[in-house]
Amino acid sequence: MKNLIATLATGVSLSAPAFSQELPKASVQLAAQAAHVKIYTVVAPPEQFSNTTHVIELPHELVVIDGQFFAPYAWQVKALTDSLHKPVTRFYISHDHPDHYIGFGDAFPDVPVYALAETKAGIEQAGQQTLEQRQKQFGDVIAKKLNLPTHIQQPGTEVIDGVKFIFEVSHDNEAALSLVVKVPEVKAYIAQDIVYNNTHLFISGNSDGWRKALHKIEKEHDYTLILPGHGKPADRSVLKEDLQYLDFVDQALAASKTKEEYKAKLLAAYPGYGGAHLIDIYLAYYLKKDWGK
Ligand SMILES: [Zn+2]
Repeated sequence: MKNLIATLATGVSLSAPAFSQELPKASVQLAAQAAHVKIYTVVAPPEQFSNTTHVIELPHELVVIDGQFFAPYAWQVKALTDSLHKPVTRFYISHDHPDHYIGFGDAFPDVPVYALAETKAGIEQAGQQTLEQRQKQFGDVIAKKLNLPTHIQQPGTEVIDGVKFIFEVSHDNEAALSLVVKVPEVKAYIAQDIVYNNTHLFISGNSDGWRKALHKIEKEHDYTLILPGHGKPADRSVLKEDLQYLDFVDQALAASKTKEEYKAKLLAAYPGYGGAHLIDIYLAYYLKKDWGK
């Protein structure tokens, strides 16, 4: 079963502000459904980096994973959580990259925000400056304020509202450190940026650690629903696709003399992938390479 079940109609939150530019809507789909758990996944459009938010509906409460980059998508998440008529008791930030935490501060100003200790510290240190820089760059589609982490998530197993969650730390993948959340009842592995689906992977350096994180998921056969940080919910085939993409990146980097040549190779090999602008961003600011001068 590939990208699962129904696509839901998306409402607009009554309290959402008007924005000066109208961005295309995110998609919302029901990714998983069992006796005590449903997972809804909101995916921003490919031109807006396909960032995901997962809303985990438990019997009496909601747990949310990741808060978007552009504020209108966080408001779309808010419309979804409002429609479910249960409180958001935990709002998780998987890692300290801005596309996962700067979007939701206005739409969810009062929810308890959970993160790993290192992620909490990283956002406290750089979050406000990052938000202001993106406000200058993109205008009012960036939230006015952050909602900073208030709670530290320790790795381990926890039962929330009668449902088992497994929290793990992953090192040296797409990010230096990230939170993995597993929900065995629905066989869901919430990998966030360890996995990209149909979206250009964000390359900022050596990807050996990233490969290791993907191989680790490959060994965990019980999890058949893989939830990416970018792109729609996937089955296990996405793991191999991402590993092959990383191999292609290594070859293309070695064989390219300019950034333009490298980007052209990626676009030609992966014509259907979203998030092409991610390549420009990491080539401009993150990926250090001597381009054969
Ligand atoms: Zn990301």
